[in-house]
Amino acid sequence: MFLARKDKPCFLVCLAVSQLTFILLLYRRGASSVFQGIFGAYPGWDYSKTQDVYTNLSLFVPDSEAVKTQYCPVKSPILVGPLTISVTKPPSLKKIQLKNRYVQSGGYFSPRHCFGRYRTAVIIPHRNRESHLRTLLYYLHPFLQRQQLHYTIFVVHQAGNATFNRAKLLNVGVREALRYDDWDCLISHDVDLVPENDYNLYVCDDLYPKHLSSAMDKFQYRIRLSGMSMTRTPLNLGRYKMIPHDRDSGNEENSHRHNLLRNTRLNWRDDGMNSLDFHLISREKTLLYTNITVDIGDAPVMPTKARRWQFF
Ligand code: UDP
Ligand code: MN
Repeated sequence: MFLARKDKPCFLVCLAVSQLTFILLLYRRGASSVFQGIFGAYPGWDYSKTQDVYTNLSLFVPDSEAVKTQYCPVKSPILVGPLTISVTKPPSLKKIQLKNRYVQSGGYFSPRHCFGRYRTAVIIPHRNRESHLRTLLYYLHPFLQRQQLHYTIFVVHQAGNATFNRAKLLNVGVREALRYDDWDCLISHDVDLVPENDYNLYVCDDLYPKHLSSAMDKFQYRIRLSGMSMTRTPLNLGRYKMIPHDRDSGNEENSHRHNLLRNTRLNWRDDGMNSLDFHLISREKTLLYTNITVDIGDAPVMPTKARRWQFF
């Protein structure tokens, strides 16, 4: 039968087109998420039916008599899936505090009826985006509590007017967060991305760094260069609502970025945590997050090692 079909003139063309489409699909979405989609390893989420982000949190009223004896289950039983998110009116800090009464000083939370199985630090690089921060905190705290995580939110605030350097703030955040706890997972989080599905667990895979927001593919080269792989949350689960904004002043494109990127292959081992240099201005526990304010100096121009390589 197969051979007979081959006689039809369009057959080969159709076959080639369908194969090309399939290859493109694999390339764009990552093979595993395509297979998961086809074979139904994950439910097909319906984002037209969403639930309030504070659903089920009243179940967490503390009981002074209760004694924790067990670890929380591997998968929290009270997740709801797609969440109702509106980013147009940032709530006040007061409102967020009232809604999250069991979050402790520094934006720390630990489940009250069981021992949190996973310890997660969320690190948010920040400058001059207070309204985005309020929106994110309003959605992120209940999201993490429903996942029954032991967590803290860290906001790393860049002081001064030098060009914003998100990557360096993240490195500072990692170094600082490790002073507070022995985290299983350190998650970098943009202030203007709100997760839309609480099954998108903020925990790390055992072996690999995980890319939570599947749609936001930036800066993966460093992970590849270090010989590590990265796992991705399936696209339909790793959905984020982006808070719209204009380009910030002080966040102009670094005119040296092409040189810097070109030289990543040479300097990635020395450029990062092990050469981290910053001036800590303050550490402060506010009611909803731990704030780290730092002066990280001016934006990088050309790493020394790369410069040497270029000229000699
Ligand atoms: N950011 C910030 N202040 C700035 C610039 C950036 O707080 O002036 C932080 C913030 O967490 C933001 C992230 O860096 O989400 C990424 O920057 P931006 O939103 O400008 O990038 P894009 O929208 O292009 O992804
Ligand atoms: Mn943005």
